[in-house]
Amino acid sequence: MSTSKKRIVILGAGYAGMFLATHIARYVTEKAGEVILIDRNPYHQLLQEIHLVAAGFRTADEVKIPILTLIDRMDIKFIQSPVKKIIPDKKLVVLESSEITYDLLIVCLGASIKYFNIKGARENTLPLRSISDASLICGKRKW
Ligand SMILES: Cc1cc2nc3c(=O)[nH]c(=O)nc-3n(C[C@H](O)[C@H](O)[C@H](O)COP(=O)(O)OP(=O)(O)OC[C@H]3O[C@@H](n4cnc5c(N)ncnc54)[C@H](O)[C@@H]3O)c2cc1C
Repeated sequence: MSTSKKRIVILGAGYAGMFLATHIARYVTEKAGEVILIDRNPYHQLLQEIHLVAAGFRTADEVKIPILTLIDRMDIKFIQSPVKKIIPDKKLVVLESSEITYDLLIVCLGASIKYFNIKGARENTLPLRSISDASLICGKRKW
């Protein structure tokens, strides 16, 4: 990476990551820098609609939007990979089978389920945080 051209790496193509990537890309010229968006999935999840998948009213595919469609004709490079590790001292992100350096890193990897030490909660509940969670719930429903 040249010292003048900055690499902006955005981890996560959920609501925060997609919004940031598409807005930042409008202001970063090709000469000044590059915007790289990374997500483990090739699609953006419409999380506010996944309860409909859990209830069987929508299919999983109906609440997915391909990330490449959302960034079509924008100056954003998309990499599909899980993020394994961030090494701030080296300004490095470790992906499944590669590594990427950055000048500016924006972490938008979402949240994880918290059970607040409630006894039995983890073992006896199903989370609803992703399309795969919703599909699992749908598969278990008895009605
Ligand atoms: C069922 C449900 C309904 C909701 N309804 C509403 C609503 O009606 N209105 C509202 O305002 N908000 C709603 N929310 C909240 C809203 O979805 C969240 O506030 C929002 O998604 C947070 O955005 P985010 O970008 O921080 O995280 P997310 O949207 O969760 O995005 C995180 C992204 O990071 C990726 N990722 C995570 N870990 C890795 C990794 N290790 N490697 C690579 N990629 C990774 C994921 O694939 C995902 O694309 C709802 C949430 C849920 C779960």
